[in-house]
Amino acid sequence: MSVSGERPAVRLPSVDQVLSTPAARRLSAEHGASGTTAAVRAAIEALRPEFLAGTLGPEAASPEAIARQAGQRLAQRLEPRLRSVFNLTGTVLHTNLGRALLPDEAVQAVARALTAPANLEYDLATGGRGDRDDLVEGLLRELTGAEAATVVNNNAAAVLLTLNALAARKEVIVSRGELVEIGGAFRIPDIMSRAGARLVEVGTTNRTHPHDYAEAIGPRTAMLMKVHCSNYAVTGFTRSVQEAEVAAIAHAHGLPLVVDLGSGTLVDLAQWGLPHEPTVRDVVAAGADLVTFSGDKLLGGPQAGLIVGRKELVARIKKNPLKRALRVGKLTLAALEPVLQLYLAPERLPERLTTLRLFLRPQAEMQAQAEALRTPLQAALGGEWNVGAAPCLSQIGSGALPSNTLPSWALTVQPAQARRGGRLLGRLEAALRALPRPVIGRIEAGALWLDLRCLEAGELAAFTEQLPRLAEALRQV
Ligand SMILES: *Cc1c(COP(=O)(O)O)cnc(C)c1O
Repeated sequence: MSVSGERPAVRLPSVDQVLSTPAARRLSAEHGASGTTAAVRAAIEALRPEFLAGTLGPEAASPEAIARQAGQRLAQRLEPRLRSVFNLTGTVLHTNLGRALLPDEAVQAVARALTAPANLEYDLATGGRGDRDDLVEGLLRELTGAEAATVVNNNAAAVLLTLNALAARKEVIVSRGELVEIGGAFRIPDIMSRAGARLVEVGTTNRTHPHDYAEAIGPRTAMLMKVHCSNYAVTGFTRSVQEAEVAAIAHAHGLPLVVDLGSGTLVDLAQWGLPHEPTVRDVVAAGADLVTFSGDKLLGGPQAGLIVGRKELVARIKKNPLKRALRVGKLTLAALEPVLQLYLAPERLPERLTTLRLFLRPQAEMQAQAEALRTPLQAALGGEWNVGAAPCLSQIGSGALPSNTLPSWALTVQPAQARRGGRLLGRLEAALRALPRPVIGRIEAGALWLDLRCLEAGELAAFTEQLPRLAEALRQV
């Protein structure tokens, strides 16, 4: 019995009291004893402020309720942090969203490599030790015309390794117009110094001439280098020296030309109406002795750095101790091989290579999608918002072809009342991110744009099914 006028004193149960409930025993069987004990302790601690304030109710303090709270904590711990999202940013190769999406062949190959032993470094013909590069070297030679190839973790690693193997304590000549920064962390001058090479800049930002290269060559020169201006364009009064000419200057002095091609496409994209980019084969044919490029940009494969070129130079690179530190794992090679194989039948690439299919989606298809999705999105958002469908421009992304855009269609969302528009749009963006499968768009010109280029038919149901949750998500952000 309580003293008149006072509530019964609510006590916090002990950890053991909670652990002895049937619910906690079930948690312990599923999640393990130590994890469950920790979750129970944390759930009790979370109640302490209310307990101290005297506001804790007897129901919330019951061992059963605390066990339920602990169960939620344990379940939350198992939710993946790496989650699928809808990339409606309009940037197909979005570095922050994981770049290229891989075709099914690659997914199957990765699953096999994960679940069964494989001949990663095992020569099945002799039973002796093999070389992991051999798995894709033949394909890379065939697709690029190069004599040899090796694979590392990404293109930044390919450049670092190449410079360290061939130019440590020596000089590398690069045009001032090509000293790029890629995504904040990759800067040619920084990579150069980390590789132990000395950068010799020639020419000016907008103009570099053949004699600039020739005059900079000296006894310490290890190589001439060209870098693809991936994410910017130099236009106007400009002059750069093409690969063939730089190669001729390098070779006249017995030096190699190394080209960091960045995205590095294996096929001429112009055949499908996309902007022309020199292919890796073109650059090799122009006389580059080594070419480095990414696996997950225009190539449409897994994150990797590919180095192709002269046999003797690739051999030197492979002997460098950094190669061991930068090498790729079996999952990368498993994914890369089938993607490269798709390039053996280039005319079928638009249907088989996911990234190319996304680049080439007909505008009418995305327009129809925008018009069909307008109504359900409007219904989900309610009268405070105006949903429209409008043409827009997508980008290839990852620094590939930055000044070229792809005509696309988007859903647009604007607050019905223009005042407070900015804040409301920010909340809408947050609500879309809070959906079970987060939707990532972009804010531009007073509206939220959801570019539908990367929402293929197979994903449509998953997108529309979660729309009804949007109103609730908006209330909670
Ligand atoms: C993207 C890019 C890189 C870096 O490649 P990662 O594969 O992202 O490491 C290096 N150089 C150029 C020119 C690039 O475009």
